[in-house]
Amino acid sequence: VTQREADARRVQLLSIGAELLLGETVDTNAAHLASELAAIGLPASASRVLPDDRATIADAFADAMAHAAVVIATGGLGPTHDDVTREGLADALGEPLEEDAALLETLEARFGSGRAMPQTNRRQALLVPSARPLRNPIGSAPGWWVERDGCVVVLLPGVPSEMRVMWSDEARPRLEARFPSAPLAIRTVKAFGVGESAMAERLGALIESPPEGVDAGIYARDDGVHVRFSTRGDRSLLEQPVAAVLAALGGDAYGTDDDDLPHAALRRLGELGAGTLASSEAGTGGALLSALAAAHPRPGEARYVGGVLHVEGEPRPPSADVLLDVTLPPEDAHGRSRVRVSVSGAVAHAAEARIHGSGPQRLRRAAYAALDVVRRLSASAR
Ligand code: ATP
Ligand code: MG
Repeated sequence: VTQREADARRVQLLSIGAELLLGETVDTNAAHLASELAAIGLPASASRVLPDDRATIADAFADAMAHAAVVIATGGLGPTHDDVTREGLADALGEPLEEDAALLETLEARFGSGRAMPQTNRRQALLVPSARPLRNPIGSAPGWWVERDGCVVVLLPGVPSEMRVMWSDEARPRLEARFPSAPLAIRTVKAFGVGESAMAERLGALIESPPEGVDAGIYARDDGVHVRFSTRGDRSLLEQPVAAVLAALGGDAYGTDDDDLPHAALRRLGELGAGTLASSEAGTGGALLSALAAAHPRPGEARYVGGVLHVEGEPRPPSADVLLDVTLPPEDAHGRSRVRVSVSGAVAHAAEARIHGSGPQRLRRAAYAALDVVRRLSASAR
């Protein structure tokens, strides 16, 4: 892709709402749109958060339209006086807001025959001449699709559920048609027990110089380190680098793509002849229980039958072929954590592992470290 081609596909995101700037609402809309845009070959080049202020919003639209081919804004389309996204964009475009008869009819129909539509909702029937409405199947606020001077501006409601359906039903198909691009193929290799930098060193050239047309990256996640290859070329280009990384990582890799640690652990127990697994844990806030409970049983795997969290006293875990016990003591004076893992029953093993991170991430990592111990169990543990 040349620089000129890349510039012709620049996308800016605007998240509008005072509550976002107060930290009361986390901007999940921008995260969702950013990942969706990357998947259709239109990665966002910038993202801004704005207050519900007409002049600020107008300036931001004017600036975004000067620098991007696509501008996508969420929030501020509601019926109340503090929802001024339409007004801000109209100002930036220098176009008048006019009531659209068809939109007004749709809105009135939404309120049904018995109830009169509140006057404030009339504002949601406003359009500027360059705007076409985007249908909102679950809420009252229609979106806008605007084309002006070669630039596309999309307005979507702030409510995440409405934003998501309107994105996938209305906005994304239009953008895909206007900015065609080969689909992005992605393969991921997942490993646990190797740090991000150790991994970069072990993989070396596999990551630094991937095959032509393939991008490579290493990402630290709660469930280990993910090595990700992607291409807009043929999916088969990814086979060789994935196989090479799997070979280089050996037993440290626990799977690819949709594979996860709970299933890797349950599969290993199944291979070792255990039919059921129960868990007990302390200090983890129940992270092991929630990770295992989310793993729906698959053929050949041990079945998770439940667990207990020790806060005080000694409640008994359900009986099972294997019991997985995890204890996460508080961090030491240097902020380091070690987790103690013990496997007993049909298979027996004990281990301790160092874990990184703080807060809820530390708890999830302790649970994943325990599952990593299980999925690495050797036949001699039987
Ligand atoms: P409504 O018609 O419901 O008023 P709207 O388009 O006016 O929709 P907002 O009033 O800005 O949207 O936001 C409605 C709710 O949606 C907010 O209270 C907030 O909970 C959520 N929301 C708004 N923007 C975001 C965002 N960027 N990320 C996550 N949630 C958001
Ligand atoms: Mg609102």
